[in-house]
Amino acid sequence: MAIATLNPATGVVERTFAPMTEGEVEAALAAAAGAAAALRRTGFAERAAWMRAAADLLEADAPALAATLTREMGKTLAAAEAEVRKSARGCRFYAEHAEAMLAPEPADAAGVGAAAAWSVYQPLGVVLAVMPWNFPVWQVLRFAAPALMAGNAGLLKHASNVPQTALYLGALFERAGFPPGAFGTLLIGSAGVERVLRDDRVAAATLTGSEAAGRSVARIAGDALKKTVLELGGSDPFLVLPSADVSRAAATAVTARCQNNGQSCIAAKRFIVHAGVYDEFLDAFTRGMAALRVGDPAGPGTDVGPIATEQGRAELEELVADAVAKGAKLLTGGERPAGPGWFYPPTVLAGVDASMRLYREETFGPIAAVYRVDDLDEALALANATAFGLGAVVWTTDEAERARCIAELESGAVTVNGMTVSYPELPFGGIKTSGYGRELAAAGIREFCNLKAVWVGR
Ligand code: NAP
Repeated sequence: MAIATLNPATGVVERTFAPMTEGEVEAALAAAAGAAAALRRTGFAERAAWMRAAADLLEADAPALAATLTREMGKTLAAAEAEVRKSARGCRFYAEHAEAMLAPEPADAAGVGAAAAWSVYQPLGVVLAVMPWNFPVWQVLRFAAPALMAGNAGLLKHASNVPQTALYLGALFERAGFPPGAFGTLLIGSAGVERVLRDDRVAAATLTGSEAAGRSVARIAGDALKKTVLELGGSDPFLVLPSADVSRAAATAVTARCQNNGQSCIAAKRFIVHAGVYDEFLDAFTRGMAALRVGDPAGPGTDVGPIATEQGRAELEELVADAVAKGAKLLTGGERPAGPGWFYPPTVLAGVDASMRLYREETFGPIAAVYRVDDLDEALALANATAFGLGAVVWTTDEAERARCIAELESGAVTVNGMTVSYPELPFGGIKTSGYGRELAAAGIREFCNLKAVWVGR
């Protein structure tokens, strides 16, 4: 994949970038290693001041940076600006809480025959971050803010279609006061990841992206015995049970499916609806999906911009064609609009069954499969009949149903009467093929720390 800004709303290549040479990669590695050594001797207060300065810069730069996001990957300007501001909030969150989250943990000294015993969290060193284009600022910041606050250095290999965003982020932390090299961008393709990951100066890696990329990075990191965190795909269920407020559930379902042009790992993708409210939900949901305005992501009033890549749209079309050929019913959408750009309309399919690819595969675009079930047992079985396990949503006001869903849904998060959102305050991650490890909250900052046990004798 070329490293280039290729505007998905127009199909026009706006800028291309040469991949870094071996010498440039080596210089970035050396700078990161030097910065990691310097950072581990800095204190929380110093790093927090730099992190708050990074938040200030993000907020000041929000309008221009948002325009870059829109040009590179097609999300609406409003969504892009909200993402940049959320990223600034993530920086402030870790600036404020990192020290308490990484406070030394006392242990029972007498129990281990010591005069004193405790554990300390220490940085690992340089962490490689392989990141996706769909939330090109937030995905990076939710790694970078905790990693840097813990005293690590970061090296970003961003998705090849967001190079200008990658370069902005590569400069951000030095502008904010962090030592040069504390956070750098590697403009390299995915084939260049292995060389960096195997380098002795790189201690660990985090990857957010597809299952295939995750497997590849995990295989190499496993061979090199390096810690990884993987945030991969999802096919989140959205359950609607009879006690739900159906019209609110349907309106939320539209947003949960189509936010970020339908390209979110935690978008609701499978709508599992009890027979008692199926017709009412399906009607409201389909009308809501059909009413969304698809168009220029930089224009006012647009709800859904283009799919980020031509290949991504082609994959959506194949999934829908396969389902329709095997008997699924298309209720709205399903046909690309004429004209330039990689647009695809919000699409609703009913009658999806296990013979169809859509049943098993992640739909990374505004396509919803709606299923009808007769009871909660069937709903839970269908919700869990997936290799993924990222988020899950249930709409119910029944306490017993809520408790069962929280207990039995196989996922890293359960949302009741809402939609899945990532927050700095709550851990984020998946199980099954959605990956392992956690980002955000205290769990996220501890992932890239050495929890060192200290035993002091008399
Ligand atoms: P992708 O193709 O896997 O790309 C993600 C990143 O991995 C890019 O930087 C890409 O570089 C790199 N990459 C791809 N193949 C690689 C390999 N074999 N070795 C090393 N690096 C490799 O994913 P995408 O299509 O851009 O993103 C969509 C996927 O990400 C979806 O499955 C979505 O659910 C998932 N996602 C998950 C989360 C989460 O938190 N769980 C969040 C967002 C997205 P190039 O661009 O140079 O190929």
